[in-house]
Formats: sequence, structure tokens, C-alpha cells
Amino acid sequence: MANNKKSKILIPQPNSRFLRVKCLNCGNQQIIFGCSATDVECLVCGKTLLQSTGGKARILTKILEVLS
Ligand SMILES: [Zn+2]
Repeated sequence: MANNKKSKILIPQPNSRFLRVKCLNCGNQQIIFGCSATDVECLVCGKTLLQSTGGKARILTKILEVLS
């Protein structure tokens, strides 16, 4: 039985994880994936919370918490 202890190499960037964000427009909180390949909008008001800029995502709102 192989005991593979492969440790994942995590890029130390907050946008490579799930993030709890707060919409600056309406105050809604939601969980988004930080390196989403597509734009993420607020579920309530439709404001863009995360903008995908060709591979690297850009967070356009307030990050409350980084979830690992
Ligand atoms: Zn909103």
C-alpha cells in the first residue's frame, strides 16, 4: 500500500481559493471561487464581484474571508 504524501503546491494568492465576499452594492454575502474562469456576479443585484481577466481573476468587491 503506497502512502503517497503528495503535498499540493498552493500558489500563495488569495484568489486561488474560495472567498467569502460582500457585495459593495447591496451587502449580500456569498462564496465565490477566487480563480474562476468566468465573471461572477452578485446573486442579488447582479453587480460583478469577480472579473476574469484572461486567466487571472480580479476581485472587485470586499473580501471578508479566505476559505481554505
Ligand atoms: Zn449585490
